Amino acid sequence: MARIVMKFGGTSVAGTERIRRVANIVRAQAAAGNEVAVVVSAMAGETDRLVNFCREANPLYDPAEYDVVVSSGEQVTAGLLALTLQAMGCKARSWLGWQLPVNTFSAHANARVDSIDAEKLISSMQAGEIAVIPGFQGVSEDGRITTMGRGGSDTSAVAIAAAVKADRCDIYTDVDGVYTTDPRIVARARKQKYVTYEEMLELASVGAKVLQTRSVSLAMKRGVRVQVLSSFVDDGAPPADTLPGTMIVSEEEMDAILENSDVERQTVTGIAHDKNEARVVLTRVPDRPGAVAEIFLPLGEAGINVDMIIQNVGRDKGETDVTFTVPQSDLARAQALLEDKKDKIGFNRIITDSKVAKVSVVGMGMKSHAGVAATMFKALADRGINVQAISTSEIKVSVLIDEDETELAVRVLHTAYGLDAEAPAG
Ligand code: ASP
Ligand code: MG
Repeated sequence: MARIVMKFGGTSVAGTERIRRVANIVRAQAAAGNEVAVVVSAMAGETDRLVNFCREANPLYDPAEYDVVVSSGEQVTAGLLALTLQAMGCKARSWLGWQLPVNTFSAHANARVDSIDAEKLISSMQAGEIAVIPGFQGVSEDGRITTMGRGGSDTSAVAIAAAVKADRCDIYTDVDGVYTTDPRIVARARKQKYVTYEEMLELASVGAKVLQTRSVSLAMKRGVRVQVLSSFVDDGAPPADTLPGTMIVSEEEMDAILENSDVERQTVTGIAHDKNEARVVLTRVPDRPGAVAEIFLPLGEAGINVDMIIQNVGRDKGETDVTFTVPQSDLARAQALLEDKKDKIGFNRIITDSKVAKVSVVGMGMKSHAGVAATMFKALADRGINVQAISTSEIKVSVLIDEDETELAVRVLHTAYGLDAEAPAG
């Protein structure tokens, strides 16, 4: 017997027919004698619809009221799943964010989990009742409804798994695991059996959309075993002790797994891309101490996340060009802020380009292998793909390229790092 938290994303619960499918998977886990809590997203597209209503009602919407509106999508699916389980003869009930409660702090619309009172939840699970919990929502210190940022149901699930000390948190989605890259771009992409928290964290932050980044850091911090798997399977659930998806594990566990098998550690585990990037160039910035601080401080204060930064050597003495990237959705704001400070910073011109993409290679093996970046640059150069900016971490190399070349770059790199499967996937 195990204690399992299962989470189902928006496509898995889009409509009553799919909810029935989900209920079947949940029922099978419970019937196998496991204690089960289920976390659900809103139906696919529902949160976008609700966000639009808020914009229509009041473009300068109050985030506290926005939370009241957008949290409702998850409430609907939680109730529907509990009803469907009951119709199948299962004992089930819903627990809303404020009923547990899921205590959160900081900003509305982007709240963080502080603590979860799991006592009632655990005793209900022990009594054989399936607990159904709407993801994404919590309650603030002053008793108001909060939401945890887009994609936040993953974080809800991991937080609940940590709170009830679950043996595993199974995240059901529309793909059957974490692939070496997007299988829609590379037919020979391979599903990974295991990925480390660190790799998943880097992959999630550079555009792999399988899990919300925050959920991965929480899982890593609390040591929650997470599995990513598909809800689009033939009837019923896999037995609790088989792991059909991708397990996200610690580095130590990964080392032990590799030691006990004859598979070699790959240098690169995954290749991700992100087209939601925009490039900003400020020309003829005075080359003096404090100039870059004057550029980036206001952006930071405005909550705009700057990613890649390049400062070119000045062509003319005393001046330099500064290039950096921001999320495309923040470009207009960044541009306005900088125009505002033009005289103070003393640059000449702002040039922007949103037709750029970031392609990243990630892998723990980079820690012990030299030449990973060189392989990347060579493979791209051979195809005539120009690199506009570069950033690195201990286990990641990212390049900024022309958006039109994204798919080509991903394919070329997948082959260059020897990741292609023998036969096409699917
Ligand atoms: N429904 C929310 C969203 O779309 C939360 C989630 O599904 O994770 O962002
Ligand atoms: Mg999601």
